[in-house]
Amino acid sequence: MSDAVDRASALRAYADETAGCTRCPLSEGRTQVVFGVGNPDADLMFVGEAPGFHEDQQGIPFVGQAGKLLDRLLGGIGLERADIYVANVLKCRPPQNRDPQPEEIAACESHLFRQIELIQPRLVATLGNFATKLLSGKPLGITRVHGHEQPVTLGTSRVLLYPLYHPAAALYTPSMLKVLEEDFSRIPELIARADAAVPLSISPGAEETVELPVSEPEPVQLGLF
Ligand code: URA
Repeated sequence: MSDAVDRASALRAYADETAGCTRCPLSEGRTQVVFGVGNPDADLMFVGEAPGFHEDQQGIPFVGQAGKLLDRLLGGIGLERADIYVANVLKCRPPQNRDPQPEEIAACESHLFRQIELIQPRLVATLGNFATKLLSGKPLGITRVHGHEQPVTLGTSRVLLYPLYHPAAALYTPSMLKVLEEDFSRIPELIARADAAVPLSISPGAEETVELPVSEPEPVQLGLF
């Protein structure tokens, strides 16, 4: 069996295990765990915030309006869902789509870290504040860091982290959508760059190692999905 086949089968086993997760009270209100979908050997992985109503119903991340925008942006760079992997910081829907709480992120984050470890993406695009702060291990908000790639070590995986505005936030703000489209257009170049460098070439002091970070939520409520 190839390494990719082994990792895909380990990812399926991990999804099955996670389906019964009761690590935090969000398990009580969910319809189902929204683990993540896509190519288990993807070079590009997106990490959003948390499932909304439709995701909770269907068990698939980004199936609502924000997901339609994500699909359109992907199409613009010649990619489709089957080429990438999509997951969220939280695997269960927060009530009324409220912001993830620090204790929920702390309870759930090892699921995401395990997914990254098994998929071994080259480029991890974080959508919005929560994913960006968790995976960068830094409190800097998305407005400051969007479009700025940075090499990070996530557990045992070295990846290029690429913060982007959340599509739900860009849906109704044309100026933000324009920036998101511009940042998106750099994705093919970044995947190629990350692909060419094994291990990723990093300038001294530029790499961050992220060890089980706990993010502080921003007082920004997307509330749009
Ligand atoms: N749908 C998701 O799955 N995640 C988000 O962050 C937003 C919508």
